[in-house]
Amino acid sequence: MPEYITKEQKRKFYRSRAWEELRLEALKRDNYECQHCKAEGIVTVDSIKQEGKRKETVLNVDHKYPIEDYPKLALVLDNLQTLCINHHNIKEGRTFDKIGKSKKKRIWDDEWW
Ligand SMILES: [Zn+2]
Repeated sequence: MPEYITKEQKRKFYRSRAWEELRLEALKRDNYECQHCKAEGIVTVDSIKQEGKRKETVLNVDHKYPIEDYPKLALVLDNLQTLCINHHNIKEGRTFDKIGKSKKKRIWDDEWW
């Protein structure tokens, strides 16, 4: 049973042919749309790169259950979802922590006073 704990293990996985194929399958299934944006009624698709400009939207194929903890689900289509970079970051907790904390604090203050 493969493990995906270290950077190297993950890197290898994300460069594998099996992943590349499944990833495309997931994108196709999701219509190349961010599934969280879709749930909010917004259509976010991969933007086309324009000459001399940065790509505005980048879609990620995300594991709902992270491969570190659920290596068995690494190549299960049902465990994949297409997310925009924004939602992917939120899910990974990269920006959520900050927002979550400040929100929490305000709510707490409101209740207190
Ligand atoms: Zn999104």
